[in-house]
Amino acid sequence: MNTVLEVSGLTKQYDGIRAVDDLTFSLGEHTATALIGPNGSGKTTTLSMLAGLLRQTSGTIRFSGEGKDPRSAIGFLPQYPKFFPWMTAIEYMELAAGLSGLEGRSVRSACEKTLGFVGLGDAGKKRIGGFSGGMKQRLGLAQAIVHRPSLLLLDEPVSALDPAGRREVMEMLKELGGSTTILYSTHILNDAEEMTDQLLFLRSGKLIEQGPLREVREKYGGSGYRVLFNNPEAAERFAASAPWAARADGSAVTISGE
Ligand code: ADP
Repeated sequence: MNTVLEVSGLTKQYDGIRAVDDLTFSLGEHTATALIGPNGSGKTTTLSMLAGLLRQTSGTIRFSGEGKDPRSAIGFLPQYPKFFPWMTAIEYMELAAGLSGLEGRSVRSACEKTLGFVGLGDAGKKRIGGFSGGMKQRLGLAQAIVHRPSLLLLDEPVSALDPAGRREVMEMLKELGGSTTILYSTHILNDAEEMTDQLLFLRSGKLIEQGPLREVREKYGGSGYRVLFNNPEAAERFAASAPWAARADGSAVTISGE
């Protein structure tokens, strides 16, 4: 399988804290990978470095689309996308398309098609100020995919949505997975189960477990999997970030995916 992204020794040091600590992993073409970890474990910092928005302290990021304009090769959905409320959805999409390097007469139709794909086909001429949270999340996804990137980075794309909205967005991601490589962060294990080829577990900036979903599951047992922590407090903190899926038990967390 072709490798799309190769990350080696990736580290981000802030004044008092090592937010991301020596991450090494790779992403195969057209695979979906979930970056899982509690709040503060380094997910946003990792994705921001991969998206080129933040410079790493050390380590390398090798993207197979190197040489291509990274604006056109990578799509990024931040955890809290910012919108101009006075803009219409189609105006916003055209702005995003321009920033991603799209130009020419096909831009409008690419924007309309993408709005249709995320279920906002009828909302193009409406102002974003009147959008619900779910509509904004779809619009955020639309701006990330309008230029058909070969690598799609999504920071907690579904955690702000209700169960129905979550399912819809996960379905869209599944559909996109046939033509792009996806790395998304989540603490909703159930979603990771559905469309994930690889799991990356982060804790305190470190990768504590990685591998194909099947292998990780086998390693930690039948229906769920167990992750061992250094102490019960750390296990408790991890479990608290996904109370519906994870249960702390001493220094271990059992993740049921429920
Ligand atoms: P997550 O996305 O998993 O919640 P983050 O990547 O946001 O984690 O944060 C990882 C760690 O880095 C946290 O301890 C956070 O407080 C710290 N951090 C993030 N951004 C900065 C910053 N700009 N300056 C200092 N520390 C930061």
